[in-house]
Amino acid sequence: MDNCLFCKIIKGEIPSTKVFENDQVFAFKDINPQTPFHVLVVPKKHVSSVAEIDQLSNDEIAACLLAIRQIATSESSLSGGFRIISNCGADACQSVPHLHFHILGGTRMAERMA
Ligand code: 5GP
Ligand code: ZN
Repeated sequence: MDNCLFCKIIKGEIPSTKVFENDQVFAFKDINPQTPFHVLVVPKKHVSSVAEIDQLSNDEIAACLLAIRQIATSESSLSGGFRIISNCGADACQSVPHLHFHILGGTRMAERMA
């Protein structure tokens, strides 16, 4: 989609630190990490959030979770665990309207999530 920050990152029009890519998924380091490890996993097809996930194929949805698993299991700093967050809409403070999953870890996180 034109004028979408993450679509531009996927196309390489805006630089990012890529950590994973396949036909359906792109993953890169968050520019403002909240934990020592903070990566964003996005489907290459533009949908705004989980609220529009029905516009992705089951294959594309599965590809996001499988990419998360592959990234997490190959990252030694996540051996103690990790957290996945996908903010959806204004109440969740979603700031980029292209579906993305945050992988957070590399530290002991708070029990409280909000
Ligand atoms: P949201 O608030 O929508 O759940 O998460 C958006 C995330 O995108 C934020 O954690 C923010 O730091 C990250 N972000 C915003 N702009 C850029 C950018 O230009 N490059 C990268 N790598 N991350 C970005
Ligand atoms: Zn997009």
